[in-house]
Amino acid sequence: MNVPYLDLKSINLAHQDDLKNAFETVLNSGWYIMGEQLLTFERNYSTYNQASFAVGVANGLDALILSLKALKIGAGDEVIVPSNTYIATWLAVSYVGATPIPVEPKWETCNINPELIEEKINSNTKAILPVNLYGQVAEMDKIMAIANHHNLKVIEDNAQAQGALCNGKLSGSFGHINATSFYPGKNLGALGDAGAITTDSEELANAIKVLRNYGSQKKYYNEVKGVNSRLDELQAALLDVKLKYLHSETQERQRLALIYDEQLKGIDNLTLPQNAEGCNSVYHIYQVRTSKRDALQKYLTEQGVGTVIHYPVPPHLQEAYKELNFKQGDFPIAEKIAQETLSIPLYPGMPKEHQEIVIEKIKGFFY
Ligand SMILES: *Cc1c(COP(=O)(O)O)cnc(C)c1O
Repeated sequence: MNVPYLDLKSINLAHQDDLKNAFETVLNSGWYIMGEQLLTFERNYSTYNQASFAVGVANGLDALILSLKALKIGAGDEVIVPSNTYIATWLAVSYVGATPIPVEPKWETCNINPELIEEKINSNTKAILPVNLYGQVAEMDKIMAIANHHNLKVIEDNAQAQGALCNGKLSGSFGHINATSFYPGKNLGALGDAGAITTDSEELANAIKVLRNYGSQKKYYNEVKGVNSRLDELQAALLDVKLKYLHSETQERQRLALIYDEQLKGIDNLTLPQNAEGCNSVYHIYQVRTSKRDALQKYLTEQGVGTVIHYPVPPHLQEAYKELNFKQGDFPIAEKIAQETLSIPLYPGMPKEHQEIVIEKIKGFFY
């Protein structure tokens, strides 16, 4: 039997009646950009995220870029980022003309190590951009304390962790601005590209509303040089449907993760996901780590089990960042994660038999 890494079609077909209704509503409205659907989704998403304001944008990368712009971060500024993340986090900093300053993760959690942040702060540092990676919220309490002490802004990259908790507080509700993505494979996925920011600052929310729409509030009157990064009515309507199911789908991800935790524990040379004290995960992905990663992936592929590597090359070693002159060995923990990590199938609606096969095959590889 083939076990896919992810079955997006089944995730969306589970809500097909609601999604088709939403499509018809938008089709019949005759209004496709910046309308009622967007306002409704923004209101519901801000409530979900316990934030005063949500602003929909075209994708997660734009959410990060516009957040940095709204905070007036640009050329000459430094922004602290994780060495272990998806490259979008770094690219956003580069696009506004600032420099990403990487900080290593903790090996256990794979998230940015708060203890290593302060040594990177200098007079050019303007912000910290932590990422809630793989679905696990970073140690945001500690990060906010450091930021407040040094008068820095915090932009939380919450693309992978809607609904995760750190000491009872929701991921994406810690930073001055929080950026998220609704890329189809994310926990709250659109049927196309989409993203949003959330914030408690009316000033920042308004700045992003202007930036996303050509720098204009009043049509054909432009206050600043904005961009076109709007979340369209159709995606907003579809997202509003899927938002209703996010909580139950998150619980299902956590239930499946617990089964992996129990069934795969105690295997030599296999590290399972570990959460920081007080923080949990919504398992955007379930990653295992082993020095035999490539052999394990090859074996699982031969056995019909799909896997993905998140991510094979850390940003500092990407061709795109050669101008920063980093080399192999500069961020050894991020590099070791890139060499050892393997994401195994986990998604809401994953058949029980599929998970049993994944467990059996992984045990078969090691024993
Ligand atoms: C997906 C992702 C993004 C970018 O989102 P897009 O919608 O693909 O632009 C940014 N940061 C992280 C951590 C992500 O996983």
